[in-house]
Amino acid sequence: MYPEYIVVHTAAFNGKDCDRDMIDAWHKARNWSGIGYHFVIVNDQHSSKADGSVESGRPTNKAGAHALGLNSRSLGICCIGHGDINDFTPAQYQSLYRLIRRLMTEFAIPVEKVIGHRELNQLAERGVISSRYRTSKSCPGSKVDMDFIREQLPATAALSDANEQPSPELREAIKQAVAVLQQHRSHYPNAQDELDEFIHHPEVISLSQ
Ligand SMILES: [Zn+2]
Repeated sequence: MYPEYIVVHTAAFNGKDCDRDMIDAWHKARNWSGIGYHFVIVNDQHSSKADGSVESGRPTNKAGAHALGLNSRSLGICCIGHGDINDFTPAQYQSLYRLIRRLMTEFAIPVEKVIGHRELNQLAERGVISSRYRTSKSCPGSKVDMDFIREQLPATAALSDANEQPSPELREAIKQAVAVLQQHRSHYPNAQDELDEFIHHPEVISLSQ
């Protein structure tokens, strides 16, 4: 599967200790192969996991089971909690924005294709999916403003690269990688020109300083 959309959900469960494993058990009880979401973001009602923890569900190359009519074209992210009762926590939002930015970049997904589950209805109205896939759900919840979420995200995947400052860890990793390549350059005598070109590329220089 190559995802075109990112769909945000609520677990619609207002209890404690909800996480990937609990949802996996619910979905197995429905005779699904396991958790239908690709990612889960824990809230502040968990006794051992930190608020905002991101857990992986289905691998991103496998179609999920979270948005009928769009499963073969989308990634599903479930924020724990009940979006009709409480908005996501600030830590969940932080993790959500970071995760969505990463997925937008990885799969070249534009911000208008980051939607809430309930917005499947707009896709049905526009004929993107069949009208039989309309949903009566409020998911990700009446407290959750999808327009606000989209405003926090870069307009295009390409912009997110340019806007995001590389972390000190990334700079250090690239510096070390370049040093390792330099150190072992005698092993690839026919690629040394390309290596020098790479090392002296402005993007690499700016990242390894
Ligand atoms: Zn949903």
